[in-house]
Amino acid sequence: MKCSVCGGIITGPYYKDDYGNFACACHLNDNMFICSYCGRIISAKTSMSHKTGLYGYHVKKNLYMCGICGENPVLTTKQIKVCLDKVLKIIRPYGIKIETETISIDTISYKKFYKLGHSATNGLCYNFLDAKGNYSYSKIVVINGVPTIYFEEVLAHELFHALLYQKNIVLGNHTEGFCNIGSAIILDYYNINNNSKQARFLLNNLEKNPDLLYGKGYRELKTLLIKYGWKDFLAYIKTFKNI
Ligand SMILES: [Zn+2]
Ligand SMILES: [Zn+2]
Ligand SMILES: [Zn+2]
Repeated sequence: MKCSVCGGIITGPYYKDDYGNFACACHLNDNMFICSYCGRIISAKTSMSHKTGLYGYHVKKNLYMCGICGENPVLTTKQIKVCLDKVLKIIRPYGIKIETETISIDTISYKKFYKLGHSATNGLCYNFLDAKGNYSYSKIVVINGVPTIYFEEVLAHELFHALLYQKNIVLGNHTEGFCNIGSAIILDYYNINNNSKQARFLLNNLEKNPDLLYGKGYRELKTLLIKYGWKDFLAYIKTFKNI
């Protein structure tokens, strides 16, 4: 077995990605990294984009993007609209209706986002109430420059936050878990319909997230979803009170 990075025969421990690449484990965190958005081994031989001439980017701290993921970043208002339409289309068959007339979506660079002190997430949803305490509108902010599937995953999560406010549903500790179900619907769609390895990688990250709210909370709600089915699940969570 040949190493995709150095070309040598692999004799010791190695890393294997889903794209047919193998690499000696010794390269990890040395001169080779794994793409945080698709799981691909990042190197001149495995992730070079002929479009940009780049094979990878160091986004921030432990975040890396390969050249392939960097080929078509979501940046423009037109691209955001296409992503929003796609997300709404994917979630519609589940009986989830989000009122988008009251939601504005903006993007922000990683640099600015983290400067604002948001290091744990890639998007935010600000929800505003009127003087009577009823839902008024939402402002969603998503990191820009990320690949389409990832952007849609984050956007779906934030749209589910807005949905909870629109329907006046309080889920307490299960809020983030519920919003991650929105992300999972998007990733499931690309996994099943496009046989997307990227979607499978991101879904796996979601399923294995060790975080109490984003991971455990998600898995608990998913168990309920499997037990009740979509229609009854949505009816059931409306009865939740700060669980
Ligand atoms: Zn090697
Ligand atoms: Zn990638
Ligand atoms: Zn959230």
